[in-house]
Amino acid sequence: MSADIDCVVAGAGVVGLAIARALARAGREVMVVEAAEGIGTGTSARNSEVIHAGIYYPAGSLKARLCVEGRHLLYAYCGERGVAHKRIGKLIVATSEQEIPVLDDIRNKARINGVDDLELLTAPQARALEPALSCTAALLSPSTGIVDSHGLMLALQGDAESAGAQCVFHTPLQSGLVRSSGGFDLQFGGADAMALTCNVLVNASGLHAPSLARQIAGIPASAIPPEYLCKGNYFTMQGRAPFSRLIYPTPHHAGLGVHLTLDLGGQAKFGPDVEWIEQEEYSVDPRRCEGFYEAVRTYWPGMPDASLQPGYAGIRPKISGPHDPAADFMISGPAAHGVPGLVNLFGIESPGLTSCLAIARETLAQLGS
Ligand SMILES: Cc1cc2nc3c(=O)[nH]c(=O)nc-3n(C[C@H](O)[C@H](O)[C@H](O)COP(=O)(O)OP(=O)(O)OC[C@H]3O[C@@H](n4cnc5c(N)ncnc54)[C@H](O)[C@@H]3O)c2cc1C
Repeated sequence: MSADIDCVVAGAGVVGLAIARALARAGREVMVVEAAEGIGTGTSARNSEVIHAGIYYPAGSLKARLCVEGRHLLYAYCGERGVAHKRIGKLIVATSEQEIPVLDDIRNKARINGVDDLELLTAPQARALEPALSCTAALLSPSTGIVDSHGLMLALQGDAESAGAQCVFHTPLQSGLVRSSGGFDLQFGGADAMALTCNVLVNASGLHAPSLARQIAGIPASAIPPEYLCKGNYFTMQGRAPFSRLIYPTPHHAGLGVHLTLDLGGQAKFGPDVEWIEQEEYSVDPRRCEGFYEAVRTYWPGMPDASLQPGYAGIRPKISGPHDPAADFMISGPAAHGVPGLVNLFGIESPGLTSCLAIARETLAQLGS
């Protein structure tokens, strides 16, 4: 049976757009269907915009491999396409004697991941770079940077469309089934509800990708992970912070700790923290900033009182719960679930932005494209 369209990508976040671009450039016919009114209104618009080096992830994990590969691809892409970015570097700081061995562990893990440019600094060396910093030692990561995530998504969309892809908005994929003859029957909601058939389906719908996969009859339930939401709240700073690099404490279980990041205009924000939630919602409780002052003052004791204001929140699309070990990205293709032409992207939390171009490569490889 012939299909209405060759490939459908559900979700126009940074990952869906990168995959659509890669498929279209490989000569495939592509339609990106997006539930919202435009590209990048989900997690891709609510993150730290950091180009991660690939330091922390377990050796051999997809996060480790795709972050390092994705970082190289992303710097090159931003350079070619004029996407605003800066390789400003980051310091990971130990704030007690007990934390110093953690920096060694991080450096060793990073080396195994192929990140071999980390430099261990003494406290005076770190303060020579960032005089306002308080620490017992620090690791300098020169290849960490920041990127304009919306500019990146516009460039990816532009490339995808130039290669023939089409993006349609207000069109949530609601349900479907795997056809016995191959391909998929899909039903879409929105004002102009429609149905169509396709050969390839990529589920890049972010936070609720597992729920969406459960609505497609024929995908084995055992191949779909549970879905958890973990909010990260940010607070922004009035006035300028006295730092020119990103400052991260040593990492915690569910996230990277309350770190200081800078946007391309030099404005500082602090966060994200870790708040497990049941429903998708993005309010920032102003009371949470009390915890922020305490966390930030461990590495910046001079942080002025009352300098923080509620900023924004993003939600990590977790597939492991608060008491489970952190899960890897789950890029689930035919070899995992047995359905030809299907890739589900589950748990694409950080470093998903950094890794987007490498995730696209991996997705195409799993599709045999
Ligand atoms: C707090 C926080 C900080 C982060 N910081 C960083 C960082 O500094 N660096 C980094 O590399 N990564 C970071 N990340 C991770 C990064 O933001 C994500 O990995 C990335 O944005 C995921 O992109 P996505 O396209 O998979 O998801 P999304 O951007 O969420 O896109 C999914 C899209 O699918 C659409 N959609 C949903 N359901 C449907 C449906 N049924 N049909 C059609 N469309 C649908 C949504 O509207 C949305 O537009 C961070 C994440 C969080 C939460």
